[in-house]
Amino acid sequence: MADNGLSPPYPARMTEKMLQFVERKQRYPEKRAADVRAQDFHEIAERYASDGAEHQSARCSQCGVPYCSVHCPLHNHIPDWLRLTAEGRLREAYEMSSMTSTMPEICGRICPQDRLCEGNCVIEFSGHGAVTIGSVEKYITDTAWAEGWVEPLQPGPSRGQSVGVIGAGPAGLSAAEYLRVGGYEVHVYDRHDRGGGLLTYGIPGFKLEKEVVMRRVDRLKEGGIVFHEGFAVGEDASLDELRGKHDAILIATGVYKARDLKAPGSGQFGIVPALDFLIASNRKGFGDAVPEYDDGSLNADGRNVVVVGGGDTAMDCVRTAIRQGATSVKCLYRRDRENMPGSQREVANAEEEGVEFVWLSGPTAFEADGDGAVTRVRGTKMKLGQPEASGRRAPEPDPDGDFTIAADLVIKALGFEAEDLPIMFGADDLSVTRWGTLRIDHETMMTNLDGVFAAGDIVRGASLVVWAIRDGREVSETMHAYLRSKRAEEKKAA
Ligand code: FAD
Ligand code: SF4
Ligand code: SF4
Repeated sequence: MADNGLSPPYPARMTEKMLQFVERKQRYPEKRAADVRAQDFHEIAERYASDGAEHQSARCSQCGVPYCSVHCPLHNHIPDWLRLTAEGRLREAYEMSSMTSTMPEICGRICPQDRLCEGNCVIEFSGHGAVTIGSVEKYITDTAWAEGWVEPLQPGPSRGQSVGVIGAGPAGLSAAEYLRVGGYEVHVYDRHDRGGGLLTYGIPGFKLEKEVVMRRVDRLKEGGIVFHEGFAVGEDASLDELRGKHDAILIATGVYKARDLKAPGSGQFGIVPALDFLIASNRKGFGDAVPEYDDGSLNADGRNVVVVGGGDTAMDCVRTAIRQGATSVKCLYRRDRENMPGSQREVANAEEEGVEFVWLSGPTAFEADGDGAVTRVRGTKMKLGQPEASGRRAPEPDPDGDFTIAADLVIKALGFEAEDLPIMFGADDLSVTRWGTLRIDHETMMTNLDGVFAAGDIVRGASLVVWAIRDGREVSETMHAYLRSKRAEEKKAA
């Protein structure tokens, strides 16, 4: 074994198995060829063979202060489950990994690891390439599902109190799981007809196959969590009505108000919001009847598609359009590649699949034919000016850079804001920030309404799945503390 520069206190057996980052090159699971994967909605990466995961896990140097865990929002015990994997003790690795996460195989697939755990792995800094933490995490729990090690959810002894969770996304589902294990009766309300939130209807199958989400939802249902699907709070019941039914409420409704294009002509037929396009595609994947897909309004087949935006939603739209058989797909983004919010990994995947990025460009007008259907995007090139408050350089139009692109489907992917919850829920007294997100006490995660808690994107603004899971875990603890003291007070008063 090569000298790795590390000496005891590492036990001899550990150094034999682990610390292999010099000899073993970083290897992610193989991606399917771009022309093959662009024909379907299956995930693009192959899975590790078992020896592949063990081999890669053994590259970990078992840091005393593991920066990977520090920068994982869930503070997963990464070095521990990597060591167990390297030693072939996969079941223990799974048990360790599921101690801190309700959805490890989902995070392993869709976390931006380059900005979180892997981006902070010391081996990355030493120039050897990070341990492939996300791919191993996915492998461990996929194996657990395949081997039948994922136990049914066991509700704790009943406490005789009930909780209502509004929103079946990762924040709501995580909280629901912990609260059910804690012995509460849990009801989850969602306006969609399936649980999972954006995991189900936002994120496309080529990043996250739907059965991976559905088996999690089914496990919760089988564990006695009652799902009220197709139930829109604000229409089917007011917040007050739910408060009357439950001892505590969690609002985990995410952010869904799409930012709009301001250029003239942006209301033409054929200019559609990103989430409508993605939901239609995901529904089609489930085999649902989707008239807007079948009549071509939300279907890129045979179309010249322009996607406006540079975040993860835009990346999901361009790659979905390719898979639907678009004639051409262009992504217009007003900054350059280095300054885009979306993941570089996703840009690379999109380029391989045939997407063209038109950096430093923005739309100025949309032209339509006689029937009012969009035919062309007029735009201008941009240049980067002085840094904004966020530190990113502000894009400014370049007066000499006008251009026109043929387009018969334009997808608006400019980001999301909170809906007006006080109006939607018929709860004028619910306090929100100036961005419309819910204002909470950061210690208790409770809103200004007694017993009404909030978590996930509706508090943070558009964020990440792993943060939603972390919020769900934390709010379940603060709700538990609230419910215990409520019960104690009721007993005292009796
Ligand atoms: P959501 O997942 O949005 O769930 C909220 C739920 O509340 C929904 O099911 C909704 O139907 C329900 N709801 C809303 N209002 C009501 C109501 N009035 N009554 C009943 N139910 C209601 N993050 C990553 O980490 N990696 C990625 O690759 C990634 N890709 C993304 C791609 C897209 C297209 C989008 C839009 C987001 C992506 N994100 C990604 C972000 C991530 O999906 C979110 O941060 C995360 O899902 C937030 O979880 P949540 O539980 O707070 O809300
Ligand atoms: Fe990395 Fe995300 Fe897994 Fe944490 S949850 S270890 S950040 S992939
Ligand atoms: Fe292993 Fe990298 Fe984490 Fe260190 S930072 S414990 S090498 S995965």
